[in-house]
Amino acid sequence: MQLYPLFADLRERHVLVVGGGDVAARKTAMLLKAGAKVTVGAPLLTPELREWVRQGRIAYRAGNYQPEWLEGMWLAIAATRSRPLNARVAADGHARQRLVNVVDDAALSSFQVPALIDRSPLLVAISSNGAAPMLARRLRERIESLLDPAFASLLQLAQRYRARIRARHADLAARRRFYDWLHDGPIHALLRAAQPAQAERRLLAALATHENSATMGSVALVGAGPGDPGLLTLRALRALNEADVILHDALISEEVLDLARRDAMRIAVGKRGGAMHTPQAQIHALLLEHAMAGRRVVRLKGGDPFVFGRGGEELEFLRAHGIAYEVVPGISAALACAAYSGVPLTHREHAQSVRLVTAHCRQSLDLVDWQALAQERQTLAIYMGVGQLDELTRQLIAHGRAADTPFVLVENGSLPQQRSLVGTLAELPRLAAHHAIEAPALLILGEVAAQAVASHWYGELLGDLRNDRRQPAVIPSTLADAA
Ligand code: SAH
Repeated sequence: MQLYPLFADLRERHVLVVGGGDVAARKTAMLLKAGAKVTVGAPLLTPELREWVRQGRIAYRAGNYQPEWLEGMWLAIAATRSRPLNARVAADGHARQRLVNVVDDAALSSFQVPALIDRSPLLVAISSNGAAPMLARRLRERIESLLDPAFASLLQLAQRYRARIRARHADLAARRRFYDWLHDGPIHALLRAAQPAQAERRLLAALATHENSATMGSVALVGAGPGDPGLLTLRALRALNEADVILHDALISEEVLDLARRDAMRIAVGKRGGAMHTPQAQIHALLLEHAMAGRRVVRLKGGDPFVFGRGGEELEFLRAHGIAYEVVPGISAALACAAYSGVPLTHREHAQSVRLVTAHCRQSLDLVDWQALAQERQTLAIYMGVGQLDELTRQLIAHGRAADTPFVLVENGSLPQQRSLVGTLAELPRLAAHHAIEAPALLILGEVAAQAVASHWYGELLGDLRNDRRQPAVIPSTLADAA
């Protein structure tokens, strides 16, 4: 280890910044944030630094650098453009046993300023010992995106109740268990759910009783999006990183599961194309079992948990059993397939509404209000419909939807093997059979679907494109107006 890491308390302590440019201003801003008394020395200052001098927030030594400036300073930062000058500041400082940082020059520095993630009171500092600050910054971005902002609130709460927690749990092992409970249990969950007052009440109650012995886990209903791991939300990623148990649908891609905590227990539930079915009651039982055992459970569902995902039923079940939960939305197949085939779901002139429809089976089709679905000026996004295309087409045309209404049928949307089939309603069953389109596939039907011919950008495009081009491309030209 070539550096000794330390977090310095600079409040009310004098620090010298040599240099009056943008870099000096950036360093000064950071020092001010930490409460340091900053003196900036330089012949000229940026407007920002001048303003701080005027406001009395910093002291100013005008003119060329003088070694006396170092007197009374705890630290110095050299941020001039001249390396020889920076080297002189460093040498003078070191002769006086001051710690000196020369910006972007590890060789001249006796201390370095790390890349920082600030979730005060939590600070994460990263150093590559000057080897590659740019790469350290990339790592910082990654950690930043993974850090749950509610964690800072949890730390603040723990900080405020530190003495009482100590008094309540004098024994070290008991205290550790309490902090584990604080992190894994309902209080952190309440903070994630933006319920700070309730979290604090819960903590007070726990301090008054022995509650934490009965550790109860929690369940996050998480939408995994359509398959491309890039379409996960940061919240979903965090939940996967913290999960003890992941109950996932069969359709969840390996790439997404690979982002989860390595040692999380994975349980595949649900079905793929009718085979291997886990009854909903059994899924409920698994949720209950693992949450009761104090685990953090992620119930990972394709797309969005509340769009044809039975998320509502699971939520009701959790609520009935008093299990803490949260819901993380996901990008639903309709949104993803539209985006990945270049089709806007709404359009100022051609589609004022979108309907999300399930065509799961014969019974679900029997419940459909065909009259309403067949209306013009709306886009239909039909889930689970590959098995029912004949019936869908027949009914829509019978109820008045034009036979030449364009469609795009997107198979494996957002995945590398995505295929998009375009055509008109009358030809839908024939084309889909011809190209052997299989589940999962999403059907977008409506005037907007014609846009796929011109704007499609991902995966393979199939269909009688020549035929489609012959029809005037209404959408592309009017889309330009809308934009
Ligand atoms: N909750 C999910 C939908 C579950 S129902 C969501 O919000 O997306 C399953 C149906 O979703 C599939 O039959 C298919 O119609 C659609 N679907 C899911 N992933 C898909 C994908 N990658 N490409 C195309 N359709 C998809």
